[in-house]
Amino acid sequence: MTGAAGGIGAAIVRHLRAAGVNVAVADRDVTGIEADAHLPGNLMDGTYADDLPRAAFEALGGLDIVVNNAGMITRGKVTQTTDDDWNLSLGVNVDAPFRVCRAAIPIMADRGGGAIVNVASCWGARPGRSHAVYCVTKAAIASLTQCMGMDHAHQNIRVNAVCPNEVNTPMLRTGFAMRGFDPDTAVAELGKTVPLGRIAEPEDIAEVVVFLASHAARYMCGSLVEVNGGKSVG
Ligand code: NAD
Repeated sequence: MTGAAGGIGAAIVRHLRAAGVNVAVADRDVTGIEADAHLPGNLMDGTYADDLPRAAFEALGGLDIVVNNAGMITRGKVTQTTDDDWNLSLGVNVDAPFRVCRAAIPIMADRGGGAIVNVASCWGARPGRSHAVYCVTKAAIASLTQCMGMDHAHQNIRVNAVCPNEVNTPMLRTGFAMRGFDPDTAVAELGKTVPLGRIAEPEDIAEVVVFLASHAARYMCGSLVEVNGGKSVG
């Protein structure tokens, strides 16, 4: 499970463990996270990402579920995007899950199957104002999910993605703070734009991830599951 220290990631870890799953957590810093194995590292290091599934398999004695949750957002138009922004966004949001999936699938196939859940975004298939690069990365992971879902179903490996709209996490809150808004006020205001009356909390997304990883989702392959409180985009 990547991005285990983040807002949505921490909730996924809690819910997976509550469901009885042994979890190996990966993030740059995994200090203090309650889990069954700790595999810290930087996903911009291709070797680390390539090796993660094998490391998790060895640490836990099995590999049935992979959750690619780590992500970062670059805000701004293409003309405001530096080479570093582009490389970091593509590196964490696309290259890393590609590497993790490429390494995990043969391990799962040898074991008779498994489930991969990618955390994409509702912006994955639609244009988003002033965060072009983020949208590109989420479109890429959505497409990868659909293609892998098709290619590996015959190995009993189900690949699906959850596509949230706004979620109350550090990613969203630091964005408000950087633009000079009080995060609590901004989150409350944003909630008024959602038909359900509030933006998502990490748990709202985590429970869908656990569902997609579970036997209850046994016939789902390559699905992009939008979790948006009734607020669709585009
Ligand atoms: P977050 O910033 O709280 O968590 C992201 C996690 O990814 C952090 O723990 C961070 O350390 C980790 N990470 C980033 N770069 C890394 C790297 N190079 N190596 C290792 N780990 C790295 O954000 P979040 O909102 O919890 O986001 C989780 C996922 O949900 C992301 O993929 C994000 O794109 C997606 N998402 C978030 C929202 C939202 O509104 N918050 C909406 C849609 C999708």
